[in-house]
Amino acid sequence: MRLYGKRESIAEGVRLTCACCGFTKVFSNDREAFDLGWDGPPYFTGYVACDLCPGSFIVLGKTHLHDADHKRWAQSGRPDRFQIPRDEEGGRIVP
Ligand SMILES: [Zn+2]
Ligand SMILES: [Zn+2]
Repeated sequence: MRLYGKRESIAEGVRLTCACCGFTKVFSNDREAFDLGWDGPPYFTGYVACDLCPGSFIVLGKTHLHDADHKRWAQSGRPDRFQIPRDEEGGRIVP
């Protein structure tokens, strides 16, 4: 089965790469990643999503819908917690 995003076993534990924004982070194990808001195997099969990207967008193949969020994060830094996806004008996005 194809995995969207990336999960690699490394000496420090596990390295996950978000299928949506490409953000990469190292965790001591899969459970820690899950507890910190990441979606990924074995808790979610088929895809890896960071704590800020809605897994539903990846499943629906509509990650482009929150490109505006990615652009904002690139400019002003990643927020420290999940926010509802917004378009360029700040409107709420419904996939
Ligand atoms: Zn994203
Ligand atoms: Zn992400």
